[in-house]
Amino acid sequence: MLPDDIPQPLEDLLQSTRNMREALDLKAYLQTLSELAAHLTASEGASILVPNETGTALHFLAAPRLQREVLRSLDVPMTGSAAGRVFASAVAEIIHAGSSTDHLFTQVDEMTGVVTRNMMVIPLRFNGQTLGVLEVINRKGGADYTPEDVTILEVLAVQAAMLLYNDSLQKKLDKAQSESALLDRMKNDFIAISSHELRTPLGLILGHATFLRELVEPKFYEQLDTIIRSATRLKSIIENLSSVDNFQNGMASLRSRMVSIKRLVEDTVAGFQPEAALHGIRLRTDLGPAELWVDGDAEKLGLALGNLVKNALQFTEPGGIIVVSAENVPGYVKISVVDNGIGIPSTDLTHIFERFYQVQSHLTRTHGGMGLGLSVTKAMVELHGGRVWAESMEGKGSTFTILLPLNFAQNAAAQRVFTP
Ligand code: ADP
Repeated sequence: MLPDDIPQPLEDLLQSTRNMREALDLKAYLQTLSELAAHLTASEGASILVPNETGTALHFLAAPRLQREVLRSLDVPMTGSAAGRVFASAVAEIIHAGSSTDHLFTQVDEMTGVVTRNMMVIPLRFNGQTLGVLEVINRKGGADYTPEDVTILEVLAVQAAMLLYNDSLQKKLDKAQSESALLDRMKNDFIAISSHELRTPLGLILGHATFLRELVEPKFYEQLDTIIRSATRLKSIIENLSSVDNFQNGMASLRSRMVSIKRLVEDTVAGFQPEAALHGIRLRTDLGPAELWVDGDAEKLGLALGNLVKNALQFTEPGGIIVVSAENVPGYVKISVVDNGIGIPSTDLTHIFERFYQVQSHLTRTHGGMGLGLSVTKAMVELHGGRVWAESMEGKGSTFTILLPLNFAQNAAAQRVFTP
């Protein structure tokens, strides 16, 4: 508890500190603060100056009300002004009455018609940065500024500096956010355009290569098979790209029907067996006798699961093992892809589902891929109202789990009825 008889100046300073909590409008708060500075130091006026955008001069953020409009249009130079000197040196300055005004910026006096007799300028410093200056001019009664005045101004300067610092942080944050939104938009546009533009020529390459394969002599089979294999791989990359793009634009639609998850797992695993055999990896399923049905789009679920199995194969050493299991849990079907491969560092685990995210840099890593597979899996699973996550230990292996609601289509329809 504060005593009842605290001096008025201290009460004013405390009130100003309390007001900081609600200082939503920086300019208004700094104006009030400068008026309090003038009042508590018995000055004719007080101002707050901050650097302009280029940092080449100072401009008035707060100033005595009568001169405010005039002063706001003025640039105070960094050299040849008390404010500029204090800003540069971060050392307070007191100009006593009667001392030379040669080193002051007299244009302010000319514009306002106020003659500066004496003045005190304090730097606004916070977190090692000088953010502006607070100045008071012409102590009333012709007296000089006292050490108490300096203390009062220092307290107010800290408040002003803190708010200016917060404001600069907020501006930096806003700028970073809008830059990242712009980058995101550019990334999305790039995905949309490239996947669209690549699709047609690639379709032609694949079509003609397949046609030629039928016509040429067997000695050309190898070359044509290489073309077809590479083009098919490009096609799957483009399909991944357009899946992300469609999902992003809300254009992804579900062809909903009953999908047998057992069958989906078996088919997906069968599709990857040749690749597993090539790399000396055991790839097997673990499915109980119960049927596992969900409402959904088999093609999209196949894409989601396929990307997980493809990754498990990519990031497991020869001799390793991958198990794809599925089971009913209340309200859901749970699908897991477990490998004993290289694992994922815990710092990366939260990011791997982001688009284009790869644990190893694209330039140094030994595996192919664009960092899109998991974002496609996530998009496809979420389209079904499900969730996907990863658990992993570096050097031991990873487990990816997909949880799919049993009757997503029904839930979604019910939601459409009840949402206005
Ligand atoms: P990419 O197609 O480039 O592999 P993904 O989005 O599929 O991209 O995966 C993102 C990153 O997550 C991969 O680059 C890899 O570092 C890591 N990752 C995914 N699955 C596994 C896994 N089973 N084991 C280890 N790392 C994995």
